Amino acid sequence: MLRWLRQLFNTSPLEFDESWRPELVSGFQHWSLLSQAELDRMEMLVTRFMATIDWEAANGFELTEQIKVLIAAQASMLLLGLDLDGYDDVTSVIVHPANVRLRGNRPSGGGTFSSAPIVISGQAHYQGPVLLSWAAARRGARFPEHGHNVVYHEFAHRLDMLDGVTDGTPPLEDAAAMARWTAVCTAAYDEVRAQGSPVLRPYAGTNPAEFFAVATEVFFNQPHELCEHEPALYGELRSFYGQDPAARISRPRRHHQHG
Ligand SMILES: [Zn+2]
Repeated sequence: MLRWLRQLFNTSPLEFDESWRPELVSGFQHWSLLSQAELDRMEMLVTRFMATIDWEAANGFELTEQIKVLIAAQASMLLLGLDLDGYDDVTSVIVHPANVRLRGNRPSGGGTFSSAPIVISGQAHYQGPVLLSWAAARRGARFPEHGHNVVYHEFAHRLDMLDGVTDGTPPLEDAAAMARWTAVCTAAYDEVRAQGSPVLRPYAGTNPAEFFAVATEVFFNQPHELCEHEPALYGELRSFYGQDPAARISRPRRHHQHG
């Protein structure tokens, strides 16, 4: 494998570039929470992502090394505990400076469709590119406590697509794991659609694929809240991702506001 990579890039063995580190430490909150063993694997994943992904800048946007590495690290977080070292079927990552306006028919939640233009912060195409808003990706990396992360969201879709179906169920170990996953996710999804959720935003009720992508964002960003309100769902995501973000992130303190 290593020899193949060397031949492919006609270069020395791939190595983590130390100049990336300050950006990761200051710009990506989750980076500093990782153990040394996790950092070792993350460095390998980030290096691989940086080297193997084709990057495209939209609208004359100046795509810097710092921007790329922050996106690479967020995408790699999802792989940290998986038996998977990269997103081999992602053809490219297209970075827009901010949100993008799209037209055309699309699901608008609750089984209805809309042709009104919508503004998106990201999009994942099956066996194609991933589109991202840099403004949203930067915000998600810096302020995980807000719960949103467009990179986690779009790359969760890519994991979901690995089995060829975008249905909210990524490839799982065996039939028993699949049965458990389906039961837990269906119950939580039905609940979001029927009465909403204190932790999963309404967009999770659009369809099972969006449910998995939104649940992934909350799993990594607000693990204690997810664990409290949806313990079974938290357990399924923990066993799929092979990570326990609640053990990594300290419990949020209640805000006391005056006035
Ligand atoms: Zn989505």
